[in-house]
Amino acid sequence: MSSQDAIGTMSAAIFDENTMASKLPKDVFERFMGAMISGEPTSAADQKVIADVLFTWARAQGAVDFAHWFFPIRGGSGAVGGAVGAFKMDTMIDLDFSSKMANKPFFGVLPHERLFQGETDGSSFPNGGLRVTHSAAAFTTWDRSSPPMIVDGVLRIPCAFVTHFGKCIDEKTPLLRSMDAVRTQGLRMLKAVGLATSAKNMYSYLGWEQEFFVVPADLYKARPDLVNCGRTLMGKLPTRNQQMDLNYFAPVPEKVNQLMNTVQAEMMKVGCPIAVKHNEVAPAQHEMSPIYCVANASADNNVLFMEIMNRESARMGLMTLFHEKPFAGINGNGKHANWSIGTDTGLNFFYPGKTEEHAKLYVTALACLAYGLCQHNELVRCSVAHAGNDHRLGAQEAPPAIISLYPGQLFEAHVDSIIAGGDILGYKAEKKMQTTGCAAAMPVEAPTEDRNRTAPFPFCGNRFEFRAVGSSQNCSFPIMVCNTIMASGMAALASLIEGGMSHRDAVADMFKQNRHVIFTGNGYSKEWPVEAVKRGLPNLVTTPMAVATWASDKNKALFEAMKVFTPEETDARAEVMYEAYVTTLRVEGETLVHMIDTGIVPACAKDLEKYKGFAKLAGGREALYVGVVEETEKLKNLLAAPHKEHLADEANYLCEQLKPQMEAVRALVDQAEGLLEAGLYPFPTYEALLYSH
Ligand code: ADP
Ligand code: MG
Repeated sequence: MSSQDAIGTMSAAIFDENTMASKLPKDVFERFMGAMISGEPTSAADQKVIADVLFTWARAQGAVDFAHWFFPIRGGSGAVGGAVGAFKMDTMIDLDFSSKMANKPFFGVLPHERLFQGETDGSSFPNGGLRVTHSAAAFTTWDRSSPPMIVDGVLRIPCAFVTHFGKCIDEKTPLLRSMDAVRTQGLRMLKAVGLATSAKNMYSYLGWEQEFFVVPADLYKARPDLVNCGRTLMGKLPTRNQQMDLNYFAPVPEKVNQLMNTVQAEMMKVGCPIAVKHNEVAPAQHEMSPIYCVANASADNNVLFMEIMNRESARMGLMTLFHEKPFAGINGNGKHANWSIGTDTGLNFFYPGKTEEHAKLYVTALACLAYGLCQHNELVRCSVAHAGNDHRLGAQEAPPAIISLYPGQLFEAHVDSIIAGGDILGYKAEKKMQTTGCAAAMPVEAPTEDRNRTAPFPFCGNRFEFRAVGSSQNCSFPIMVCNTIMASGMAALASLIEGGMSHRDAVADMFKQNRHVIFTGNGYSKEWPVEAVKRGLPNLVTTPMAVATWASDKNKALFEAMKVFTPEETDARAEVMYEAYVTTLRVEGETLVHMIDTGIVPACAKDLEKYKGFAKLAGGREALYVGVVEETEKLKNLLAAPHKEHLADEANYLCEQLKPQMEAVRALVDQAEGLLEAGLYPFPTYEALLYSH
C-alpha cells in the first residue's frame, strides 16, 4: 500500500481516542479518559467492557495474538538495531473442551485482567539490582494514554513495567511520572502567576527526527564489527566522502526511497504520519520524522519505527544502521528530540505568543527552563550519555557535551533587560522580511530568531530541540529528564510567588540565578569550552564522567521531589548505564582483536609474500604490518587484565585505556588497508558499504 492509500485507512490499526469514543458506552469512555488525569484505576466492570470492545475491534482487524509491549531499561544502549521494545505474544484462540468430538479451537475473549496487567520475569532484563533471580517477578500494566495498535496481526498494548515492589525497570514509567510532574507543577505555576487558569491538564510533546544509514544486508553481515557492535571498528574513508555535502538533501536513491515509502505507509496505519523524509549529509545517510504528538505515544512510535525499519530493510536485502557513529570520518547519526509542553486549552509554553497573556507565559516558561537546565545541568547531560554518543558529542557535527540554552539573541537581550528591572513583556517575536535581490523570487519572511545548529538546546519557533539525543536511544529517557527539570523550574517559580514575590521579580530572580546557562554564540568554537568553565558549566566529555554525577544527593532529591524516581531507582539507573557502557566497550575491544587476528593479519601475510625479493617495492609494508600486530598485542593485554571491582572504575579504565588503544590499532589497520593488494582486504570496504545504491 502506498502512503497515499494508507491515509484512507488511517487509524484503522489503532485503538485511539476516536475509536474508543465511537465504540465504548459514553460513561465508560468518560471514566477512562478522566482516569488519565486523576490516576484512578479503571474498575473491574469497566475493564470487562473495554476488553470486550477491544477484542471485537482487534478481531475485525485480523488480529490473532495479543501482547503487552514494554520497554526494558537498556542504559542508553540500543547500538545494534536501535532501541527495541519487548513483548511475548499470546494467542486469542482458545479450545472448546466441552465439544464432544474433539477440542475445537475458537476465538475466545480477551480476559480483562490480561489486557490491563501482565506478569513476567524482571530479572533477565537490566534492572540495576532492583530484581534478582530468586526475587524476579515483574509486571506490565497498560499505559492507558498510549493507544493499543495492531502490528503484523498482533494486538500490542503499550505498557509500563514495574517490579513486585512497584519499582520501575523500564523507560516508559519514569517518562509517565515526569509527565505527571509537568501537570502538577505546571498547573501550580499557572495558578501562582494567574495565567491560563482555566487549564485542567498539561501535556508534554515530542517530535523526533531520526537519522540512519542504509547499507546492503550481505555486506553488513560480512562485517563482524557491524554485526556485533553496530559500528565499524576499522575502515578507510573513500577519497570522495562528504567533502562538499553532496548527499545533503540530494535525491534519495531508488531502493532507499522504496524502503522509506513502505515504512511511511506502515507507520500511517498505526496513526503516526511521517512528516519529513530526506537524504542526510553523509553518503548512505537519511532521515525521517513524524508529526509530533504527546511524548509517551511519540516515544513508542519511535521504537516501533526502528523495528519496522529493520523489518522492511530485511525484506529488501538491506540493513538500517541506527548507531550514533557507524563510520569514522563522516557524520554520525543524531536524533533531535523536538520537545514542548502545553495546556489542554491549547497554550504552548514555548511559543512566543501573540496575546499579552501568552507572551507573558512564554517568558515565564523560559525562566523555568533556564532554571532547570542550569540547576540540573549534569542530569540533562547524563540523559544522552552512552558509549555510542561519546563518538559524537563534542565532535564538530554534534552539539558539545556542554549543556546550554539557546533562546535566540534578541531573547537573550530581553533577559538582561528583565534582570535590570524591565518588564516581562516587551519581547517582540516579529517576523522580518528579507529581500532576495532578484525580481522573480519574492522577499522571504525570516523569524525573529536565527537557527543555531551548534547549540544542544536551541529554540525552534514553537519548541526546543534537544539535539544531543543519541540516534539509537529510546527518547523516553531524555524527554523524562527535560520534563523533570522543567517541572522543577515551574515548582521553583511557584514557590517564589507563593512566598510573596511578584511575578516580575520572581522571573527576574530565576533568570539572574541561571543567566550563565544562556549562550547564543558558536558552540563549536574553541573558545566556548574555555568560557563554559569560567561560567561554571560542566563539560562532561565522556559517559563515565557524566554517569558519575547521576546519583548525587542533589539529583536524588530532585527525582524524589518530582516523584519520578525513588533514591533506590536513581541508583539502579546509574548501575545500568555503567553496565551498558562496560559491556559495549568490551564487546568492541574483543571484536576488533578477532577481526585483526582472523582477517587483517592473514591478509598482511599474503600481501608480504608478493614482495619477497622486492624490498624496495614492499616499502614500509612490513614495518606497518608488524606494527599492527604489536599494537594489537597491547590491546589484548588490556582486555586480559582482571575486571575492576567497581563498575565506575571499570568504566573509567575502559574509557581511558582501552578506547585510545583501539584507536591506535585502528589507525594502523586503516593505513594497512591503503597498502594491501586490491581484493585482499578481508571485509567489505567503506566504499562498498556507502556507495552500493
Ligand atoms: P528541522 O527543520 O529542524 O530539521 P523537521 O521538520 O525535520 O525539523 O522536524 C521537526 C520536528 O519537530 C517534527 O517532528 C515536528 O512535528 C516537530 N514539532 C513541531 N512543533 C512541535 C512542538 N510544538 N512540540 C514538539 N515537536 C514539534
Ligand atoms: Mg530535520
